[in-house]
Amino acid sequence: MESGMISVDKWSSGSQVYFLTHLHADHTVGLSSTWRRGLLYCSRDTAKLFPTKFPDFNLSLIRVVEIGCWHSLSLVSPNSGSATTVYVMAIDANHCPGSLMYLFRGEFGCMLYTGDFRWEKSSNTVEVGRTMLLNALKNEKLDILYLDNTYCNPRFSFPSREVAAREIVDIINAHPEHDIIIGIDSLGKEDLLLYISRTLNIKIWVWPERLQVMHLLGFPDIFTTKTALTRVRAVPRYSFSVETLECLNTLRPTIGIRPSGLPWSMKAVKANENVFGSSRSQTHEPNRDLRSAERSHEYIYTVPYSDHLCFAEIQEFIELLQPVKIKGIVSSLSSNIEPYYFFRHLCGTKQAFWRLHQKLDNEEKLEKVGTVDIKSTIPGTSSVAGRKRKKVQFVNRVSLLRKSGHGVRIADS
Ligand SMILES: [Zn+2]
Repeated sequence: MESGMISVDKWSSGSQVYFLTHLHADHTVGLSSTWRRGLLYCSRDTAKLFPTKFPDFNLSLIRVVEIGCWHSLSLVSPNSGSATTVYVMAIDANHCPGSLMYLFRGEFGCMLYTGDFRWEKSSNTVEVGRTMLLNALKNEKLDILYLDNTYCNPRFSFPSREVAAREIVDIINAHPEHDIIIGIDSLGKEDLLLYISRTLNIKIWVWPERLQVMHLLGFPDIFTTKTALTRVRAVPRYSFSVETLECLNTLRPTIGIRPSGLPWSMKAVKANENVFGSSRSQTHEPNRDLRSAERSHEYIYTVPYSDHLCFAEIQEFIELLQPVKIKGIVSSLSSNIEPYYFFRHLCGTKQAFWRLHQKLDNEEKLEKVGTVDIKSTIPGTSSVAGRKRKKVQFVNRVSLLRKSGHGVRIADS
């Protein structure tokens, strides 16, 4: 790229404006308190939380994007050098407080960058987002969909967060004499904690910085830093471990609950199963064949409460938007989670794009001469992604790739 216009979750130089989808650490790599590269657009909640993560950030650079209406930006075309207008609409990503997806329209066409998101059928937020997207795209095709492909594999079939939250409450109820610790991030899973608190009529302990976040976001006064007030504690995910649970159990009976989509990727490795799952042409119905909570250790329950969408939701989303091209925002050297592998039959210009990829596949085969190539686990299939693949345990792919694979520049040349 010689010069660009817009970057999303990417913080290097060369763009005129920058967009942040949400404040999770894997989307802010390269962003710091001393960052000065241009205006930064984000949601109102993200703007509120910004100083907690970047204390000395120049807040005059931040612009709040309201949800559901078009905003216009006057930029300079990197192609012609003349003035051009870009339109952007934000849609609630239903991932964590303040998370947004962005729909852009300009000389480069029409593009949607989802960031991390969840697309549950039962969610009102999703219903509103669906209407916004369909109205916005009424007379227009979506040229590129930058998609949250964290769980883009038929293996990843898990229930809505509503269902998973009920399972978590059931686990807590089944342990009336135990202390409970729940591993969470510095942002996200607030709705789960609210549900536990309301259902069990109990306060939730959080660490001091997390309490500050709760206050900034305006959550009700159910969170506390006083351990004597509750037996349910939400702790930083980094401190949630077998060792911690064993140590706590020397003092009091304690169980840990880990709400995450990741245990299902562990299953794929454990069973040494084919990570491609079933055929890509098959329809994957949401809420079918769903796994539920399980006791993964004497003291630990893992529950598939995920803030990322499952495979069935990805399918529904792509069917709804019918983009011309799809690119995963979690970069992958393998096709385990490559959206185009599974959904090329739903893309708008599938014939032309498919031919392009066939060409790339042929080039790939030529390149592989003299290199080590680990083949797909399904005989007869070929990958559309990954020039030089390594055999890596699938369990680590998701978490590792999420740390490095985000961000895009719009109108890259
Ligand atoms: Zn996230």
